[in-house]
Amino acid sequence: MKKENPFKACEKLEARARESGSRVHNLESELRDAKSDFNRHSEDLCFVEGLKASKQKDPGKYCPAYYFVKEFSDKRVITSEKIALTRKCGTCQQENPVVVDYQQKYDSPEGDEWRARIYVLCPEHGLTPIHLIKSSNRII
Ligand SMILES: [Zn+2]
Repeated sequence: MKKENPFKACEKLEARARESGSRVHNLESELRDAKSDFNRHSEDLCFVEGLKASKQKDPGKYCPAYYFVKEFSDKRVITSEKIALTRKCGTCQQENPVVVDYQQKYDSPEGDEWRARIYVLCPEHGLTPIHLIKSSNRII
């Protein structure tokens, strides 16, 4: 009598389970790389931002100052030292940090102009402008 493998019927199930596990493992690895890449870019920005902010006694007066945005309205921007507010990138729809560059554009006896340009910063797709504030008074 032919000896039947009692687990033969389970081979398909076993293979499917192993394949699923392998896919999860690959995706987790991909996600880890993506997060690491994202953190690296965020840290670069923190570094640049930190340098510029610490060197400027009067942010935006002589050269652009960069910040993460915590809140913004049509007149004011509240900044943060780390990622606070996020919005979806228009290209990939991933949530990414909202950042601002802030600078005085005109300084004259007739009036000053301060400008805050607010962007979504996507590690893959770069800066997407989402709002512009111009004011004769300080915005930040
Ligand atoms: Zn994107």
